Amino acid sequence: MRILLAEDEQVLSDQIKTLLIAEGRAVDTVADGDEAHFLGSTEPYDMIILDIGLPGQDGISVLKKWRAEGIDTPVLILTARDGWSDRVDGLDAGADDYMTKPFNMSELAARVRATLRRKSGQTNPMFEKDGISFDTRNGRVAANGMPVDLTSQEVAVLSYLVHNSGRLISRTELSEHIYAYDGDRDSNTIAVFITRLRKKLGPDFIQTIRGRGYMIDAA
Ligand code: CA
Repeated sequence: MRILLAEDEQVLSDQIKTLLIAEGRAVDTVADGDEAHFLGSTEPYDMIILDIGLPGQDGISVLKKWRAEGIDTPVLILTARDGWSDRVDGLDAGADDYMTKPFNMSELAARVRATLRRKSGQTNPMFEKDGISFDTRNGRVAANGMPVDLTSQEVAVLSYLVHNSGRLISRTELSEHIYAYDGDRDSNTIAVFITRLRKKLGPDFIQTIRGRGYMIDAA
């Protein structure tokens, strides 16, 4: 799952990025509103974390533009402690959630997970099908109750397919959602990850539709 992080406080931005990467997300960071608007309008993010106080265009203006353009990517806004009017404006402008600075990093991680689940229409954090379980809270995978060891890239691929279960996903779409903007995208690598996942999870969990992509049936 790929996230755009727009935050101009460098230290905070680095902390959030580190946290999200540890959670298996691909992260693009920007530090001003104009860049945030551009990337959010042109790249296919699974969610956006948007500071309200950004140089250039402020976060509320950026959010309003996205919504006016029909960009419906879930947005979590970050506001100052005394910024209740920003929170009201942000929610009215189409934000899905907010956090008030300073916040606890574990809470942010949990809100990101919840937002991504809501976007997928999944209320249950545990995805289970055909004896395979995927815990969206920690990326742990089990086959018939036995833990399965996956690399972080394999988890990233599996996570995107699980969050979009029931839908055919092309290699291009997968690579756009598991690599950051500057990531080394190669759709052949995706095929390698899928092959390894099928070895570890059995041949039936992930379906390959030749020439079109991959799919996990809805739970
Ligand atoms: Ca700021």
